Amino acid sequence: MTKYVLAIDQGTTSSRAIIFDKSGSIISTGQLEHEQIFPKAGWVEHDPKEIWDNTREAIGQALSKANITRHDIEAVGITNQRETAVVWDKNTGVPVYNAIVWQDTRTQPIVDRLAADGGVERFKAKVGLPLATYFSGTKIVWILENVEGARGKADAGDLLFGTTDSWVLWNLTGGIEGGVHATDVTNASRTMFMGLDTLEWDDEILAAFDVPKSMLPEIKSSSEVYGIASGHSLLREVPIAGILGDQQAATFGQAAFDQGEAKNTYGTGNFLIFNTGTEIVHSKNGLLTTVGYKLGDGPTHYALEGSIAVTGSLVQWMRDNLGMIKDAAEIEDLAKTVDDNGGAYFVPAFSGLFAPYWRSDARGALVGLTRYVNKGHIARAALEAIAYQTREVLDAVNADSGVPLTELKVDGGATANDLLMQFQADLIGVPVVRPVVAETTALGAAYAAGLAVGFWSGLDDLRANWQEDARWEPSMDKEESERLLRNWKKAVTKTLDWVD
Ligand code: ADP
Repeated sequence: MTKYVLAIDQGTTSSRAIIFDKSGSIISTGQLEHEQIFPKAGWVEHDPKEIWDNTREAIGQALSKANITRHDIEAVGITNQRETAVVWDKNTGVPVYNAIVWQDTRTQPIVDRLAADGGVERFKAKVGLPLATYFSGTKIVWILENVEGARGKADAGDLLFGTTDSWVLWNLTGGIEGGVHATDVTNASRTMFMGLDTLEWDDEILAAFDVPKSMLPEIKSSSEVYGIASGHSLLREVPIAGILGDQQAATFGQAAFDQGEAKNTYGTGNFLIFNTGTEIVHSKNGLLTTVGYKLGDGPTHYALEGSIAVTGSLVQWMRDNLGMIKDAAEIEDLAKTVDDNGGAYFVPAFSGLFAPYWRSDARGALVGLTRYVNKGHIARAALEAIAYQTREVLDAVNADSGVPLTELKVDGGATANDLLMQFQADLIGVPVVRPVVAETTALGAAYAAGLAVGFWSGLDDLRANWQEDARWEPSMDKEESERLLRNWKKAVTKTLDWVD
């Protein structure tokens, strides 16, 4: 009987369940979007209950579309939006507050307080990350300090923290009736609490943040059986055997397993991940150091990461807040009504600027405007902004590694945009290539789960599955691309020092 692997992709905008066969091809997909809650400027929340309900329904959709049952599923992998923090009561299973999403900047005062003693790089040597609102650690602190009764319950050992992988795993394995409270090394590496070399929660950092260790999930590898789906689930008795944070999962799904390989994902934000093998490399150019993957008892693979907060979400913003387009794909048609940006540059520093700047005081700006500029130019400036930010991150990767990338593997929703992909190739001067299976995030989680249960026998099996779908060759002359980049960098300077 043909067997499959099911991946749960708990993303920023939606929860998906995708069923893959042995060749890595998609058999069926279930997907539900969840509400983006913006209670105040800079705050972004999700309802964890809605996320879990949607995840369950997505699993049901995927199974029924493929006309199969749990008996056909060999293993389940989970991938997730990273850094988004859920804190729940282990006795009731009820979250004490909404999930605080990775883009949320409310914890800046907590960051400042912790940075007052030793600066934002205080823990960087240990955890690979600067102190920033982005990571889940300060979000836990905010909940403990601001949700009534939370601190007392946490001290009594009644509260559990998890990124959404842990939240889904705990619920899927039975919740209050013995749910497994675990996470993988890649998600743990985004909290600020895990030592990169020890792969354990660091007591000194936990003391500085005043977060009780009893709240934290057990840290496991990215590929092993964590638990078995419970009787309440459509996946009853199926092992959950893979967990990777979304960006690491996409890297794995792109078969970038070895040192020197990389991928760039174009989703809500953009994330370029460069595999540094088993070596922990500390960036001199504004990149993060993070765990890439660890398969069971195998060696830990590390990575450098260039995270960009706002790329695809700028397109969403133009759709939802400005009403300039009706759906994301329309931005390409609008941009094609003009030949160039007309002198306009759009720096979408909505959540401050992430890599390579790490400036939480930045806010967005649209500059270079004249009476000539129309909405086509603005659409183009928005798409170009995605590419300029990627170019700056790629320059940082190349400088840190000393060996420039010769092509860029890409994936994610916005890679459907031909104009953007061509401009990207033009701006970086190397080809951009997209694989046939663009759902690399879910595929990576499926791979991790399938490897753990012997569905795939090893990495060579997975390498053989990677196939090229599209390739964009650079065609712009270098003088022009450098001129555009210079203007972009000037535009970035206008966004800094905006918040007191
Ligand atoms: P995520 O996993 O972060 O939710 P996806 O990989 O599903 O993201 O990509 C969705 C993002 O891509 C959205 O932010 C959307 O605005 C953007 N997007 C989708 N299609 C296009 C397009 N044709 N052109 C530009 N952006 C797009």
